[in-house]
Amino acid sequence: MKYVYLFGNNTAEGTAKMKNTLGGKGANLAEMNHLKIPVPPGFTITTDVCSYYYEKNRNFPDELDEQLNNALAETEKIMGSKFGDPVNPLLVSIRSGARQSMPGMMETVLNVGLTSTTIPGLITKTKNARFVYDAYRRLIMMYADVVMEKAAGIEPKNNKGIRHRLESLIETHKEDNQYKNDTDLSADDWKELSEKFKNEIEKTLGNKFPDNPMEQLLGGVRAVFESWNGERAINYRRIENIPHKWGTAVNVQTMVFGNMGENSATGVAFTRNPANGENKFFGEWLVNAQGEDVVAGLRTPNPLNEDTKTEETKKLPSLQSSMPEIYAELDNIRNTLEKHYSDMQDIEFTIQEGKLWMLQTRVGKRNGAAAIKMAVEMKHEGMIDKKTALLRVKPEQLDELLHPMLDRESEKKATLLAKGLPAGPGGATGRIVFTADDAEDWHKNGEKVILIRDETSPEDIHGMHAAEAILTAKGGMTSHAALVARGWGKCCIVGCSELQINTEKKEVKIGDINLIEGDWITMNGTSGNIYNNRLNLIPADPDTHPEYKELMIWADETRTMKIRTNAESPEDAKQAIKFGAEGIGLCRTEHMFFDESRILAIRKMIFADKKKNRRDAVMELLPFQKEDFVGILEAMEGKPVTIRLLDPPLHEFMTLTDEQQHELAKSLNINIDNVKSRISTLHELNPMLGHRGCRLGIAYPEITEMQVTAILEASAELIQKGQSVLPEIMIPLVGTVSEYIDQERIVREVADKINKKYTIKLKYLVGTMIELPRACLTANEIAKHAEFFSFGTNDLTQTTFGFSRDDIGSFLPDYLNRNILPDDPFQSIDIKGVGKLVTMAVEYGKAVNDNLKIGICGEHGGDPKSIMFCRENGLDYVSCSPFRVPIARLASAQAELKNNPI
Ligand code: PEP
Ligand code: MG
Repeated sequence: MKYVYLFGNNTAEGTAKMKNTLGGKGANLAEMNHLKIPVPPGFTITTDVCSYYYEKNRNFPDELDEQLNNALAETEKIMGSKFGDPVNPLLVSIRSGARQSMPGMMETVLNVGLTSTTIPGLITKTKNARFVYDAYRRLIMMYADVVMEKAAGIEPKNNKGIRHRLESLIETHKEDNQYKNDTDLSADDWKELSEKFKNEIEKTLGNKFPDNPMEQLLGGVRAVFESWNGERAINYRRIENIPHKWGTAVNVQTMVFGNMGENSATGVAFTRNPANGENKFFGEWLVNAQGEDVVAGLRTPNPLNEDTKTEETKKLPSLQSSMPEIYAELDNIRNTLEKHYSDMQDIEFTIQEGKLWMLQTRVGKRNGAAAIKMAVEMKHEGMIDKKTALLRVKPEQLDELLHPMLDRESEKKATLLAKGLPAGPGGATGRIVFTADDAEDWHKNGEKVILIRDETSPEDIHGMHAAEAILTAKGGMTSHAALVARGWGKCCIVGCSELQINTEKKEVKIGDINLIEGDWITMNGTSGNIYNNRLNLIPADPDTHPEYKELMIWADETRTMKIRTNAESPEDAKQAIKFGAEGIGLCRTEHMFFDESRILAIRKMIFADKKKNRRDAVMELLPFQKEDFVGILEAMEGKPVTIRLLDPPLHEFMTLTDEQQHELAKSLNINIDNVKSRISTLHELNPMLGHRGCRLGIAYPEITEMQVTAILEASAELIQKGQSVLPEIMIPLVGTVSEYIDQERIVREVADKINKKYTIKLKYLVGTMIELPRACLTANEIAKHAEFFSFGTNDLTQTTFGFSRDDIGSFLPDYLNRNILPDDPFQSIDIKGVGKLVTMAVEYGKAVNDNLKIGICGEHGGDPKSIMFCRENGLDYVSCSPFRVPIARLASAQAELKNNPI
């Protein structure tokens, strides 16, 4: 089996199509060679080796040794130097590269091949002893940290590992010699420190730093494979839904150095602006530096070109002005790559003594607004077609456009604390915390937090995920914090140098203001402004983005499923229409009863001893209900409105404090003991499985009568005013057809009465929610009577799994951590189980009723994966909360494209 693929000198054994085997980085390094782009030669060890390594108890396949030696020999041939050679030594980097990029989550070892034998040769060759010893000490630090400690599984917690110890040695050396910066250290300083490092390593870790190049190489390769199963990589895969079985490839590549003097440099760039989508070459670079210096954010990087300079960076030198020829070459490569991949690329480059080398290209991460702009513009530029444009934007990315922004007026009056680089747009407000663990803990307790760090590292990933926003003192627009936040569409400000953070004390000083953990701040991630205290956020208005509008038009032209919304007030309904809703799929009526002016009537009804009294009590609610439905039906302007009859367990209306019980007794003019005993009779052990849904209407038919009267009288009156309405009456929690028939009869009788009363012929539908397994299993019986089905997948998930939807939080995290469940089944439909019931019910229902209208109104109606499932099952519509309507529109178009490619 072939385990190693060569690349270099404008040829390669792999191609961009081989991501599964070579990982994203390896496949693209190969492809750049085919495009004649200068890439330092090397080879990729395949993901198969990673799988083998873990399957075979951390052993490598037998053939690997020989293939590795051959590849190394080929690389040496191209470079005209030799690995481990005393005169002309080759140095290599060892980097991870999974199928899907996992920025910063796995390990890298640079400068591999530097030993006591090769150092003198390299010094003679480069005539730069300082550079060589600096490279050597970097190798020792990285190797000790990554290979000897992390990969060996002996890394101490709390950042007190070997890297920390070695860094302290540098600090002490600097203090002893009164040096301020690393750049003050000479060749001899680094040489002396390298020896100290090696002693410290042997003392602390019990092993010697290897002086054999091949041992360094194999150790590095093993460490990269080990890092696939490091804690942060596993966490990242869980968040990003990357399968654990994929494994990583390893790229071994000739080292090129951006820190060989003033004609060397390094940088990262995007072929278009990843923060706003503008078609401008955008990036950062540093002269005389290594790649890690740009990304780590320890030095403030310079802008790539004149065009993208900002107020903050206008005085810094651009690559365009400092090295115009190289910039022109890079700009050409930008065009070649973007044209070839038909997508925005994220590239890394190094300039070694005036020669440009490309180290990486990959599809660049972008925020939602940028993704939309790029997709639409690339379609207009003829680079991609409409279908590709629609598939380019993740439905969840629209969320960012729908995110709140800071209220301008309150922003004007607020105290500006500081300004940083706007790395992730949108507004956020929250209480400050200083560690990722605190962010996670506070978030779990329901707090909105903003995570403040000097700079973030992949170890902070869980806290960054939990935080509303991220704020860092260091780093640029391509720093770790910026990249991660952009990927998630999170509000983020980086490089805010005015922050003086004291993580130990959990406080930060900004100018004269001292803030401590828990204080509120507000961030404007679009401008980079940071404000004291909590400010108002206002909902976003996606209609102000022309590209968004165009993309949504394309989505609407493409999709076949309708999108409705779950709404129970005219305001929500109007908001949903603005977002593109084509009807209401679920109007829950129970909340309407909890209003103070209404709940007494319901309680009266529950307490009534005679049918007549009960009916009188319920009918007190009629005018209120009618008003509710007039508002909603009017707002929906003739679009279908599915109104569900009362659903919650009766006992929810009867949870009263002592004082309320007394008040109730008084207003009903009954004895307090009667109240107490009725409450205790109503108490249910499993209310979710108790007296709820259509069971209420069956026990108390006057509730159904009153609600249907309210719906249909509201409809009749609106029609008489010349407005069109389309009510759909939905009977909840049906498990047997006889329950449905019982309730449908009441609906039809009321409708007949109202038709007579208003001399009208109302158009309305009667149907049911399908939210119990028994309803799915007997859907053929129910569909003979019902005009529509609406899957209530919240209850259907609850009753299929037997998981209480209110209590799953106590064990779900364990289930997810241990992979017992792939996802929260209340968020994304469980296709194998709950989905099978849905499929069955659709099939059974359609078999007996050609006109059966079918939709979904559980939370899953706004989840892209579940929407795909609904399309595959031929549902007519999905219904979700107003803010998810645009997401559902796009997801439904994507489902169409994937289901029915055009
Ligand atoms: C459902 O069960 O999926 C549903 C939409 O109803 P509710 O969430 O109100 O029970
Ligand atoms: Mg339900």
